[in-house]
Amino acid sequence: MKPNKKLLERSQHTCELCGSDKDLQLYTVAPENHPDNEIIVCKTCYVQIENPDLMDVNHWRCLNESMWSEVPAVQVMAWRLLHRLNHKGEAWAQDLLDMMYLDDETQAWAEATGEGNMDEQVIHKDSNGAVLQNGDSVVLIKDLKVAGGGFTAKRGTAVRRISLVADNPEHIEGRVEGQQIVILTKYVKKI
Ligand SMILES: [Zn+2]
Repeated sequence: MKPNKKLLERSQHTCELCGSDKDLQLYTVAPENHPDNEIIVCKTCYVQIENPDLMDVNHWRCLNESMWSEVPAVQVMAWRLLHRLNHKGEAWAQDLLDMMYLDDETQAWAEATGEGNMDEQVIHKDSNGAVLQNGDSVVLIKDLKVAGGGFTAKRGTAVRRISLVADNPEHIEGRVEGQQIVILTKYVKKI
């Protein structure tokens, strides 16, 4: 969509994220119905926002400046993009996030799409690196002494309908010999 005059004046006819003046267009910062959620972006920024896989990490060094914009919609976009970069392992993005200050309302807007939660997502993997889900069945690949249980769970024992321990990617829970026990993911294989 063609950007309107008012927004072009605000952005001084440049991309509000990287400062480029090429192929400017309107970008709507989600959610749709939020007031004042339109910003001016260039095509390079637009394509990368829409396709996270195409993100050119170096291009986004521009956020170093645009994160200080006075426009809340630009702040929100910078915050979300920095979280994406941080998730890709870019430590500088976390440094910028640490410096960034959003007022409460803008912070709530920034978090509204769940973009920031990616950082805290805990992924459980078995001994082969296969991703485990709640309800999966696994088999033990090692004899495990069950602390406090007074028995050893034998290698080869199947544990059905495991549950993932939410805050620890190395722990799952399952029932062995009638007891609910915590098992380390590195000692199990998904079946
Ligand atoms: Zn741009």
